[in-house]
Amino acid sequence: MIRMEQSMERIDILSMTKEELTEWIVSLGEPKYRAAQIMEWLVRGVGFSEMKNLPLPLRTKLEAHAYLAAAAPVKKLVSSDGTIKYLYRLHDGEAVETVFMRYQHGNTVCISTEAGCPMGCAFCASTLKGLSRRLLPSEMLSQVIETQKDIGERISGIVLMGIGEPLDNYDNVIKFLHLVASPDGLNIGYRHISLSTCGLVDKIQRLAEENLPITLSISLHAADDETRSSLMPVNKKWNLEALLPACLDYFEKTKRRISFEYTLVEGKNDRRADAQKLADVLYRYCAGMPLHVNLIPVNPVRERGFQPSNQGSIRRFAEALESRRITATVRRRLGSDIDASCGQLRAASLE
Ligand code: SAH
Repeated sequence: MIRMEQSMERIDILSMTKEELTEWIVSLGEPKYRAAQIMEWLVRGVGFSEMKNLPLPLRTKLEAHAYLAAAAPVKKLVSSDGTIKYLYRLHDGEAVETVFMRYQHGNTVCISTEAGCPMGCAFCASTLKGLSRRLLPSEMLSQVIETQKDIGERISGIVLMGIGEPLDNYDNVIKFLHLVASPDGLNIGYRHISLSTCGLVDKIQRLAEENLPITLSISLHAADDETRSSLMPVNKKWNLEALLPACLDYFEKTKRRISFEYTLVEGKNDRRADAQKLADVLYRYCAGMPLHVNLIPVNPVRERGFQPSNQGSIRRFAEALESRRITATVRRRLGSDIDASCGQLRAASLE
């Protein structure tokens, strides 16, 4: 369903698929091929008035009946490692963060799916002031388009690991995935898209039915319910006994590998015994699938007071997992000099 901007009844053009756009353009009394022309401009981040191959009356009609939910860059921080963080302003004044990362396997952008976050994870800056609102498909797409425009290079991968819980904004996120993967859109293959969730089990089950070969990441962060509930309130609704079997089901239905995210907080979840517990719980519920854990030293957030584990503990934790045949990678802390962890820039902009 296409959302109308309430006051002006204008259509959110960037949230439309090629088919929807074509239908709409035809309903305005225009020939079909105009939809293809408009789409080409839209994916390049070009506004209506700049769509040079459209006749002026059509451009005027577009201005009157549609709006472009474009993310406008208001702040840009460039890290010494090449990571770039943007603060983008949305049309209603909300702000979200987008991070550009250059990897060997290609240019990747980390996008936000919500302005703020309702999930309340104890270590995360995005959730400090709760959820303001969910983003439209167009607003997620625009983060990719504007970033690609700014760097002048093709973006080939996306991670939904910015501000917000993607599965809390389920329908809009699914629509965004269809739009961004479409050959008429940015044509970024599902296999180059990762979605990270704190573990909304009902939505993981739905996602398994969508048949999208994306990569699912599960934010685990603890191997027992007591620790996990203290870090992630969502665990009180869906604990490990609910979440981990749902992960195995997802793997069995989709045959897509899942990766587990584990943020290491000094003295909280980073001892060798915690690694053993993690291996135990993964084998208990997920023995039927390949097991891979991404270890992320917690990025300290001023308001939270958690400290990252030291190099020695991180190495020992990884070794303990490896010795149980669970592959572990330690996530490089890209952009740590520019507050690249979720929500830190937005939080600062709200102060
Ligand atoms: N809502 C999604 C996406 C969040 S951000 C989710 O929960 O998965 C992506 C990852 O960064 C998550 O694993 C999240 O738990 C983690 N994260 C959030 N704040 C962090 C911090 N301060 N340090 C390290 N990792 C953090």
